[in-house]
Amino acid sequence: MSNIQGKVVIITGASSGIGEATAKELASKGAKIVLAARREERLKEIQQEIKRNGGQVIYQVTDVTSYEQMETLASYALTEFGKIDVMINNAGVMPLSAISDLKITEWETMIDVNIKGVTYGMAAVLPSMKENKVGHIINVSAVAGHMVFPTSSVYSGTKYAVRAITEGLRQEECKNNIRTTIISPGPTSTELTNSISDLGLRNFIIESAKEAIDPSSVARAIAFAIGEPDNVAINEMIIRPTIQE
Ligand code: NDP
Repeated sequence: MSNIQGKVVIITGASSGIGEATAKELASKGAKIVLAARREERLKEIQQEIKRNGGQVIYQVTDVTSYEQMETLASYALTEFGKIDVMINNAGVMPLSAISDLKITEWETMIDVNIKGVTYGMAAVLPSMKENKVGHIINVSAVAGHMVFPTSSVYSGTKYAVRAITEGLRQEECKNNIRTTIISPGPTSTELTNSISDLGLRNFIIESAKEAIDPSSVARAIAFAIGEPDNVAINEMIIRPTIQE
């Protein structure tokens, strides 16, 4: 039997893209899903679709930049489902820009969502996972967390940070039976490019990512990492278009 069946999985950034695809994939394999994001209408629609297909799913409107809201999310999962097996810190934004454009507010948003949001997600679930002596934290980085290109400096910085933080977590908590996984997607067809405020740059990025893969491929990679036995940790996966250099 799959090691996904019956697991309680929280997914941030579940209102679109990779988070939405992962919620549907894991629900179809019998996981109990807790959707989290800010857009309630989207969460409701995804909840209804998963329920129509026989899945178990609840949602909590959550801004990952608020530690209080992340704690509320974890408490809600514990109240409704009694445990948290997997936390997927997937919410992210990618307002790419050149450093010389000095888009300070966008840098701050990236740091708040992509780094602080991940740390808050880990903090919200670690106590209950350690109490149960088993758990799995999956943090979404990127190929841009392995390399830098012009306009990706701050975004890449946040994604390198996600990898560093997750590796530290692995070293500290592996003895407590906490599995960690870093997911590093390459170009994937989602709404992520909407956060690029420079329209010329946005169109350039969309154009140069024409070969982008479907988010369901990333979702299946995440399902694979969860589905392995609890004594096996898939610590990192890069999922990208075959054609990407
Ligand atoms: P989407 O834009 O489709 O999804 C991003 C999700 O993050 C949305 O559900 C959004 O929900 C949520 N989000 C953004 N800000 C917040 C916030 N403050 N609080 C809570 N949720 C928030 O993009 P993807 O699915 O592509 O992105 C998912 C992850 O994958 C990101 O971490 C991204 O960096 C990473 N990634 C994506 C790649 C790609 O090419 N698409 C490549 C490499 C990595 P809402 O607005 O409703 O809050």
